[in-house]
Amino acid sequence: MKLIEHFVNGKIIPGSSDRKGKVFNPATGEQESEVRLASKSDLDQAVEAAKKAFETWSAKPPLQRARIIFKFKELIEKNSDELTKLIVSEHGKVFEDARGSLTRGLEVVEFACGIPHLLKGEYSENVGTNVDSWSMRQPLGVVAGITPFNFPAMVPMWMFPIAIACGNTFILKPSEKDPSCPLRLAELLSEAGLPEGVFNVVNGDKEAVDAILENKDIKAVSFVGSTPIAKYIYENSAKNEKRVQALGGAKNHLVVMPDCDLDGAVNGLMGAAYGSAGERCMAQSVAVAVGDIGDELVSRLSKKAEALKVGPGMDKTSEMGPLVTKEHLEKVKSYVDLGVEEGAKLVVDGRNLKLQGYENGFYIGGCLFDHVNKDMRIYKEEIFGPVLSVVRVKTFEEAAKLINDHEYGNGVSIYTRDGDAGRTFASKIQVGMVGINVPIPVPMAFHSFGGWKRSLFGDSGMHGMEGIKFYTKLKTVTSRWPSGVRTNAEFVMPTMK
Ligand code: NAD
Repeated sequence: MKLIEHFVNGKIIPGSSDRKGKVFNPATGEQESEVRLASKSDLDQAVEAAKKAFETWSAKPPLQRARIIFKFKELIEKNSDELTKLIVSEHGKVFEDARGSLTRGLEVVEFACGIPHLLKGEYSENVGTNVDSWSMRQPLGVVAGITPFNFPAMVPMWMFPIAIACGNTFILKPSEKDPSCPLRLAELLSEAGLPEGVFNVVNGDKEAVDAILENKDIKAVSFVGSTPIAKYIYENSAKNEKRVQALGGAKNHLVVMPDCDLDGAVNGLMGAAYGSAGERCMAQSVAVAVGDIGDELVSRLSKKAEALKVGPGMDKTSEMGPLVTKEHLEKVKSYVDLGVEEGAKLVVDGRNLKLQGYENGFYIGGCLFDHVNKDMRIYKEEIFGPVLSVVRVKTFEEAAKLINDHEYGNGVSIYTRDGDAGRTFASKIQVGMVGINVPIPVPMAFHSFGGWKRSLFGDSGMHGMEGIKFYTKLKTVTSRWPSGVRTNAEFVMPTMK
C-alpha cells in the first residue's frame, strides 16, 4: 500500500514514527494509502530546516521571491488536472468543484506575486526638523499552518503563498484525511525554484499539532478547522507567545425575503447547501423563510433536492459526491435522526441512498428539514453535510435577531429586491462575510476571509492585506543625520521640534 511521507528540506523524507493513518477513496470506500503521522522529533527536524532556510530566504529581494511564486502559479495551471484528481480521490467532491477550489487557491498565489508592491511601507519627511520617519514590514521567521480536510489545496493556499512571499519559511500540517494534494504542491514549489527548507509538509495528527504549538522557533500559527480545535490552537499558541489566527466552524443562514427573485434564491441555496456535500465552512445550512414565502420555498427546494444527482466525484454528471469518511457519514446520518426526534419535518430524506457499483462509498442523498426552530440541536450545531434546515420567521427583524443570536458568524446571505433591506442587513448583521443576492460570499484573494464570533479566534482574517499584516511585523524608524549641530542628552519624553 502507498505510504504518504513528509516533505522536508526540498525532498520527501521518511518519518521516524511508526504511527500511520488511513486514507480512503470516499467514492469507493476503499483504503488507498497510508499516511505517516509525525512525532515531535519529525516536526522539530522540519523546523530546523525552515529556520536555516529563513536566513537566506528572508534576505532575498521581494521581487526575486515574487518570480518564484509566479513560476509556481504557472506550474499549478499546467498541473491543474492532476491536482484536481488528487483532491477528488481523497476528499470525494466532484471534479469541477474541486477544480474551482484549486482556482480560488491559485488566486491567492496571483495576489502574492504582487509582493514588492504589497510590502511597501510609509514614509514621512521632516516629522521634526531634519528628522524623517518610515515604516516597513518584516517577516516573522518560521510560521506554521494547520488545515482541515475540506479544502486540501485552497485552505493551505490561503496561507503559504503570502507567508513565503513576505519572506517567512513555512511548515504545513495538512489534514491527515487527504494529504496527497498538499504534498504535490510542495513538489511544484521546489520545481518552481523555491530553495530547500522554505516550504515543508509534516503529516500528522494531534501529536504533530502539539509539537507545533510547543516549538519555540515557530513564531505564528494559522489554523482552519472546527471550533473546539480552533479555540485550543488559539489558547495554546498565545500561551506559547505565538501570533495566531484560528478559523473555526460555522452555521450559515440564507435569508429569503418575500420580494426576492425566488428562482435565484432556490438555485443559490441548492448550490450553497448541497455543493461539496455541505462540507464547506461557507455552506448555507439554514434557509430563513420570511413572511409567507415558506411553503413555496420548501416546495421548490424539495423537488430539486430529490432530483440531486449523487455519484462519484470523477463522474462528470455527478452534482454531489460522497462524504469524506465513513465516520463522518455516520455522524451526518445521526444528525438527521436527531432532527426527526426533535420534531422537525423531514421533507427529503437522503439517508437510504445506495449507488449501484459503489455500495461501500460514503454517500448520502440531500436532506431537507422544514419547521426547524432555534432550540433544536440540528439548528444550533454544525452538521457539515448535505442537510438544509428551513426556519420560518414572520419579519426581517426576527430573521436578523436569529442570526445575530447564533454562536457562529462566518457567512450569511440575503435574497431581496429591496435595497434598504439589503443595506440594513449588511450594516447590522453580526457576521464576518455577507452576501446580497449572492449565495456564498467568499471574498476574493485581494480582500480578506474571516468570520466573527466563534468562527474566528484572533484578530486577522486570511489573505488580502490582513494576510500581509499577519505574516509580517511592523518596524518604524525615526532618523536624523547630524548637520553640524550637536545636541546634549535629553531626559524628557521626546517631542518633535
Ligand atoms: P478538525 O478541527 O477536525 O481538523 C482540523 C485540523 O486540526 C486537522 O489538521 C487535524 O489534524 C487537526 N486536529 C484535529 N483534532 C485535533 C486535536 N484534538 N488536537 C490538535 N489538532 C487536531 O476539522 P476538519 O474536520 O478537518 O474540518 C472541518 C471543520 O473545519 C468544520 O468545522 C469547518 O467549518 C471548518 N472549516 C472552517 C473554515 C473557515 O474558514 N472558518 C474553512 C474550512 C473548514
